[in-house]
Amino acid sequence: MVDIVVIGGGPAGLISALRAADLGAGAVLVTRAEFGGMAANDGPVPVRTLAHAARLIREARQLGHYGIGVSEPALDYPRLLARVREVVEDVRAQSSFRPQIESLGVSVHEHAGVARFADEHTVECENGVRLEADKIIICAGGVSRRLPVPGFELTNTHSDAWSLTSVPPSMLVIGAGATGVQVASIFNAFGSRIQLFQSGPRILPSEDEDVSAAVAEAFRDSGIAVHESFGAIQSFEKTPTGVRMIFSKNGGEGSAEAALAVVAVGWMADTAGLSLAKAGVDTDHRGFVKVDEYQQTSTPHIFAAGDITGRLMLVPQAIQEGFVAATNAVRGPAMTIGEPVTPIGSFTDPEYAQVGLTEAKAREAHDIVTAVVRFDSTTRTIIDGRKAGFCKLIVDRKTFGMLGCHVVGERAVEITQVAAIAMAAKMRVDELARIPLSFPTYAGILARVAASAARELNLEVDWQAHQAEDAWLTSEETKRGAGEEP
Ligand SMILES: Cc1cc2nc3c(=O)[nH]c(=O)nc-3n(C[C@H](O)[C@H](O)[C@H](O)COP(=O)(O)OP(=O)(O)OC[C@H]3O[C@@H](n4cnc5c(N)ncnc54)[C@H](O)[C@@H]3O)c2cc1C
Repeated sequence: MVDIVVIGGGPAGLISALRAADLGAGAVLVTRAEFGGMAANDGPVPVRTLAHAARLIREARQLGHYGIGVSEPALDYPRLLARVREVVEDVRAQSSFRPQIESLGVSVHEHAGVARFADEHTVECENGVRLEADKIIICAGGVSRRLPVPGFELTNTHSDAWSLTSVPPSMLVIGAGATGVQVASIFNAFGSRIQLFQSGPRILPSEDEDVSAAVAEAFRDSGIAVHESFGAIQSFEKTPTGVRMIFSKNGGEGSAEAALAVVAVGWMADTAGLSLAKAGVDTDHRGFVKVDEYQQTSTPHIFAAGDITGRLMLVPQAIQEGFVAATNAVRGPAMTIGEPVTPIGSFTDPEYAQVGLTEAKAREAHDIVTAVVRFDSTTRTIIDGRKAGFCKLIVDRKTFGMLGCHVVGERAVEITQVAAIAMAAKMRVDELARIPLSFPTYAGILARVAASAARELNLEVDWQAHQAEDAWLTSEETKRGAGEEP
C-alpha cells in the first residue's frame, strides 16, 4: 500500500505529487499520456504559441508605419506547427516540476493509459499497473463538451489545429467563450474567413459588458463575422467543400457553411474512464467531481483538484487546488484556498483581461465609482500604434477599495496582473494612484485610472506622480472624466 496515488499529470497532478512528497508521503503519479497534461501539450502553451505567431503577423504589418519596408507576411502553417512542437518540447524540458518530482522520489508512470478505480483504495491503469493507496487525489482534468446533435462528428475542436496541413480558407467557430474567441482571433490573423457564433446575447459572457462589446466591435472591424443570439444548433452536414451548420431561430431556420467548424461550447470533467462509482465519488449536476473547501470528495480519503472540479479551470487555480488537496491528504483536512484575487485574461487581438467583479456584479452589492482611461490617451499606446482599448477600474465609494479592473487592448493581461497585486494587497485607490509607475509603460494606465477614480472620490493624490504622463494630456483628454463609457 502506498501513501498517495495521484491520477493525472497536468498542473494539478504534478503539484499534488510534489507537495505530498515534500510533506514526506510516499507518492505515485499515474497519467494517461505525456507529463504536463492539457496545459503543456494541448492548451495554453501551444495555443499561446499560435497566438504569438498571430501577433508577429500584425506587428509585421505595422512595420511600414515606422518606415521599415518589408513585403506582406506569408504564413507557412506546417513550419509554424513545427515551431509549436519545438516550444512544447522546450517548455516540457525546462519544467522545474520534473526534476523536483524525481528528486523527491515520486514514482511516475507516464503513458500508463486510462486509470480507473477498482475499489475505493485501488487504482488500475490500462498498462497493467495496479496500485493500492491510503489516499488518492484525482486530477484528471477536462475535455471539450460535445453536443447531442446530428452530424456533430463532422465538427472539430481546438486540438485539431495540430493536425491541419494548411490554414482552412474559412471556419465556423461555435461558442464565444475564452477558447472560441482565441481560435477565431488566431485563425483570422492567419487569413481564414471566420464566422463566430454565440447562442447568448454577447460574446465573452463572463466578462464585463463593456469588454464583450469592445472585443466584438474589434473583431468585426478585423473582418470576423460575429453572430450573437444566433439561435439553436439543429445539425451539421457535409458539403462538397466542408461542413454546414443548420440552426433554428424564432421558428425559422438558418445555415452557415465553411471549410471547417470548430465547436468550443464548454469544458467538461474527464471522468468517463475513472469508474468513480466504484470509489463512491459523487459528481455534481454538471458532471464535475464534487469537492468541499478542503478539496475532499464524498469519499473522505479521496481528494480532487484542477479542471475535474469545474471551478475556474485555469492553470494557476489547478496548481492552488493541487497544493491544498495534497496538504490536506497528508495532514488532514485543514487548509482551504479561500477567495484569492484571480486575474483572468486571453491572448486574442485585442487582448482582454479582468480581475475582481464586473461592473454589473459590483453594483449589486456595492455603491461604486467607475473610472475609465482610454488607450488612445496614453503615451505608450500612441508610441506603439496600439491605441484601441481601455482600462476600467471599479472602486467602492465607502472603503475606496478596488473591486474590479477590466482591460481591453495591447498587454491587457499583463496590466491586469499589476491590478491584481494591488487588489490582493488591499490597497486603496488613492494609494495605487500615488505609485509613480514608470513612464511610458502599459501598466502606467493603472495609476492614471486610479487617479481618475480618486479625483471622483475627492481623495488627494500626489499629482507629482503623474506629471510625466499628465504633461502629455490634451485638453480633450482632460475632459474625459471618471465614469465615461469606453
Ligand atoms: C485551448 C485552451 C487554452 C487554454 N489557455 C489557458 C491559458 O491561457 N491560461 C490558463 O491558465 N489556462 C488555460 N487553459 C486551461 C488549462 O489548460 C487547464 O485549466 C489546466 O490544464 C488544468 O489542469 P489539470 O491538471 O486540472 O488538468 P489537465 O492539464 O487537463 O491534466 C489532466 C491530465 O490527466 C490525464 N488523465 C485524464 N484522465 C485520466 C485517467 N483516467 N487516467 C490517467 N490519466 C488521466 C490527462 O491525460 C492529462 O494529462 C486553456 C485550456 C484550453 C483547452
